[in-house]
Amino acid sequence: MRTPFKAASLLGLALAANPASAFSIFACEPEWAGLAQQLAPQASVFSATHAYQDPHYIEARPSLISKLRGADLAICSGAELEAGWLPALQQRAANPKVQTGRPGLLFAAEQVETIDQTETGFFDTAHVHPEGNPHLHLDPERLALVAQSLSQRLIDLDPENAQTYQRAQSAWEESWQQNIERWRTQAAPLKGERVLAQHTTFDYLWRSLGIEVIADLEPKPGVPPTTAHLASLIDKVEEEAPLAIVHAWYQAPQSAEWLGEKTATPVLSLPSTLTPEQQIERPEQLFDHLISALLELQGER
Ligand SMILES: [Zn+2]
Repeated sequence: MRTPFKAASLLGLALAANPASAFSIFACEPEWAGLAQQLAPQASVFSATHAYQDPHYIEARPSLISKLRGADLAICSGAELEAGWLPALQQRAANPKVQTGRPGLLFAAEQVETIDQTETGFFDTAHVHPEGNPHLHLDPERLALVAQSLSQRLIDLDPENAQTYQRAQSAWEESWQQNIERWRTQAAPLKGERVLAQHTTFDYLWRSLGIEVIADLEPKPGVPPTTAHLASLIDKVEEEAPLAIVHAWYQAPQSAEWLGEKTATPVLSLPSTLTPEQQIERPEQLFDHLISALLELQGER
């Protein structure tokens, strides 16, 4: 995201660019990178993952380790979304600033209440999200709470630039609340619609739009769809005629397509996070894209 700096160093203009002085933010997922760049316009922001990767399963590659090593702040979803890869990165990066419990590591899920937490004392090894659904960036209200926490954390860690962060946060908050109002109006016709989904990726979005999930293609969160489970859904889908069977861009489409064909139900593939190469660079563009895609499909019915 700091291509001008990179290009400048390549040209031997490192002195003029001085990238070492930029506050460095490591985001586990693109949604947090996009938000961080809005709230910290001068910072150098890096996303460890992209929209075509499954954020539950990431390889702790050397390039990621080196990025985390140089980070002043890391922001991740938390609620164990990154449990399979972040600890390895933290250990190998050996950057004291971003170790768990330090102010340089912000977990979004710790700033809000997550949905679908499994009951206390109930340990289900087949469930990938016992601490609740970590895909909370798809709720505009929760995202605004995370933005507040992130902005405060930036001020705590980099007080010299407090004014810049305060200004960015106020502007962001004002514009975000206007967006929320706009989405409420635009998405009103979607209220009461029904969908099937693969995994709980979009659950916060469904809730905020008033869309009901009639079934998950996964037998349990994190357990890949099986033919037996998909076959067991056919009657329900035919009976309830949902708007779509939805999967995220990073998920293989075969299960959704199989069930879609069997039941003559449209399959909708949606981005679950920011995708700069598809002009979805900022969080508001993601919500615009998701709502438009759903409305468009509804219009075709
Ligand atoms: Zn998940």
